[in-house]
Amino acid sequence: MTILEKFLSGAPDQIRQASCEVMRLNNKQELNTLAKNLHSIKKAVKNTDLGGGFLPNNVYLDFALKKIRYAKKSNACMCELYPDMVFFNPSEEESAGHILITEQDPAPEPWTNTFLCRCRACGNLFHVEQGESHYTWYQWTKIKQLP
Ligand SMILES: [Zn+2]
Repeated sequence: MTILEKFLSGAPDQIRQASCEVMRLNNKQELNTLAKNLHSIKKAVKNTDLGGGFLPNNVYLDFALKKIRYAKKSNACMCELYPDMVFFNPSEEESAGHILITEQDPAPEPWTNTFLCRCRACGNLFHVEQGESHYTWYQWTKIKQLP
């Protein structure tokens, strides 16, 4: 099942999965395909309650829709959206090949940590603060754009 098919299925489980896939999707072509179908996607996911505990799973869907809209209207690097989503784990983003962690708090507390990350595509630098409330969050702040 493609991401688009998952969205259009209208099934909450599939929509949630598709949203998480879009979050990690950096393939411009695939994003453009989704952008072309944004109207149908919005119709299919309208009024979908994805459940969740302290944090409604709809945050994933809201972010996915935002990213698709962004891909449609902007050619800027997708890393510009890191500050808009608190679930981008720097280690996972590094494993996916999107960024490099250039510095890390050498002695992090159990639930807090800081990172300095560079986007491998455009060179943007981010300061990332990791914290913990009912879930682990990551606040990304863009600090510099390299020429
Ligand atoms: Zn970038």
